Amino acid sequence: MEETYIPFFMKRCSKCEFPKYRATDYHKDAKSKDKLSSRCKPCIKESKAIWRKDNLDKVRISKQQWRQTPNGREYKKISSANRRARHSTDNFCHKLTKTEWAETKVEFNDLCAYCQREVFLEIEHVIPISDKERTSNAKWNIVTACKSCNSGKHDKTLWVDWVPKNPHPELLRRFPPTKDNKFV
Ligand SMILES: [Zn+2]
Ligand SMILES: [Zn+2]
Repeated sequence: MEETYIPFFMKRCSKCEFPKYRATDYHKDAKSKDKLSSRCKPCIKESKAIWRKDNLDKVRISKQQWRQTPNGREYKKISSANRRARHSTDNFCHKLTKTEWAETKVEFNDLCAYCQREVFLEIEHVIPISDKERTSNAKWNIVTACKSCNSGKHDKTLWVDWVPKNPHPELLRRFPPTKDNKFV
């Protein structure tokens, strides 16, 4: 059998043995000589998928463990906010991103937008998602809220049906109370 000549810049995947020219076809691997993994990206992806299929229990447990980490908890909050918005409104057009939620927390100094306490923060839609006509899942309608304020406000209208204990300046800037409102 004739050996195919492989120039030095060509790298053959150790699994599919298909020569791939570009370094981007391989994951980085600091331990290997050429700093690239021996198998190509699609091959690694495939074997990972097979492993996951054969190890459903392990996958489930590691997902559960990840959900308990700070990152996992934030992810859970965001995806649940997106899911709730998607299920209850017809004009769901925006998926809240991780960055937007992080920015929101910075804008509210990691405090509850309604009482300014520094506690575990939930994702709150100021115009509630039950108000299908006006609500939005976009960042302008998203604020931080503690559990107590979030459940206290529930689907009430800010300033009209419900007045927060100690509104954050950013909340006042975004949703200024009008003259007719009870808030002074
Ligand atoms: Zn391969
Ligand atoms: Zn609060």
